[in-house]
Amino acid sequence: MDERAFAYSIDAKDTIVSLSDAWLEFARENRASELTRERVIGQPLWSFVSGWETRRLYEEVFVRVRSRKQSIELPFRCDSPDCFRFMRLLLSPGSGDGVECMGILVREQQRPFFSILDRAFPRTSTSLPMCSLCKRIYVFGARWLELEDAIRELDLFGHTRLPRIDYVVCDGCAPPQRLTQGGAAA
Ligand SMILES: [Zn+2]
Repeated sequence: MDERAFAYSIDAKDTIVSLSDAWLEFARENRASELTRERVIGQPLWSFVSGWETRRLYEEVFVRVRSRKQSIELPFRCDSPDCFRFMRLLLSPGSGDGVECMGILVREQQRPFFSILDRAFPRTSTSLPMCSLCKRIYVFGARWLELEDAIRELDLFGHTRLPRIDYVVCDGCAPPQRLTQGGAAA
């Protein structure tokens, strides 16, 4: 399959030290054209990660990659408002305790536009927990539902303002369940 891949790397202190052109192109396609190479290189990775649970998950993964010198693969979704995107993040040990990160776009599928994922859409002060990895939504404090089911269940169609998204990590995505050893491990 023709897979697109977006590479970046961090140093021992989680500072972004390199980015591929494909990564920048992907950011532009996702209406994040403010993310130029000059603005991203030298920044802490954490300034681009939403939610403390997501950060904690990545921190745990990086500890594993660094301490075991082992590649790890993490499936995740990186949906745009009108597209499902199934991706894999391959993390491999880099030089000097750095980590080489490669986001691989496995499959993309068009769907009707979901305003909830449109970063420019007006928001209310209510928050809606969404898993930053699988993009499921936690509804009524009880169940994790796929985005489209949650929107229907919560009756979020046709609103002029929507709850803001609070990025968390669901039980299904928390380590160790979703961590598999990467295919490129030495
Ligand atoms: Zn999840």
